Amino acid sequence: PLPASNAAAPAPDTYRHRGQRRALVAALRARGIRDERVLAALAAVPRHQFFAPAFEAHAYHDKAFPIGEGQTISQPYTVAYQTALLAPAPHHRVLEVGTGSGYQCAVLLRLTPHVHSIELNATLFAATQRRLAALLPPDGPAPRLRCGDGSLGWPEAAPFDRILVTAGAPGLPPALLRQLAVGGQLVIPVGPAHAQRMVRVVREGPDAFAREEFEPFRFVPLLGAGGWQG
Ligand code: SAM
Repeated sequence: PLPASNAAAPAPDTYRHRGQRRALVAALRARGIRDERVLAALAAVPRHQFFAPAFEAHAYHDKAFPIGEGQTISQPYTVAYQTALLAPAPHHRVLEVGTGSGYQCAVLLRLTPHVHSIELNATLFAATQRRLAALLPPDGPAPRLRCGDGSLGWPEAAPFDRILVTAGAPGLPPALLRQLAVGGQLVIPVGPAHAQRMVRVVREGPDAFAREEFEPFRFVPLLGAGGWQG
């Protein structure tokens, strides 16, 4: 990571922003998000710090937003939904595939200090690495970040208790299933390019996986060997 002095200073987090976050969290609760740890994490992370200053006004709408390179920062409802389904506990080792802006990564860090995140796009990776170095507290937990194909997981850091994929996959990437700890869970949107269903896979034993399907969502595609280019 870059020394903090090299990183651009994050936008201030003001009383007004905190009020907008409280309103956003109330809207998420009204849409059915019930996990109080997840809602507290979304209330704590300044989402506007993941936006270019010119677009800051969009940060507390419940909407996805472009972050460049044809990618998006996920909608807050989607972040809350996926995080609640993942249910990371403080001792869990978590892998996120698709770092994007780093917002979901910062939300996960409020729930466990053991966060790994992989981004395929080198331009986004470099910007997000700088952003997270600038805005995460220096005395708090730091994520481990890597630029590469997350559809292949992070074998050296496996097994993971929780794996979260934030891009839409054509199926379950075998490497991610292999890198789940027994008792661990994978949350991943699966389906054709324009409509996926949220899927949770629990590894019940070395060769036993239970799959459940949840609400429909629409994500940008998971690329790479275990994704749409595989
Ligand atoms: N979690 C992100 C956030 O909080 O801003 C949003 C992620 S965005 C919806 C999906 C991201 O997945 C994009 O940044 C894209 O470049 C990345 N991606 C796509 N395929 C990937 C792969 N095989 N490995 C790692 N990242 C990938």
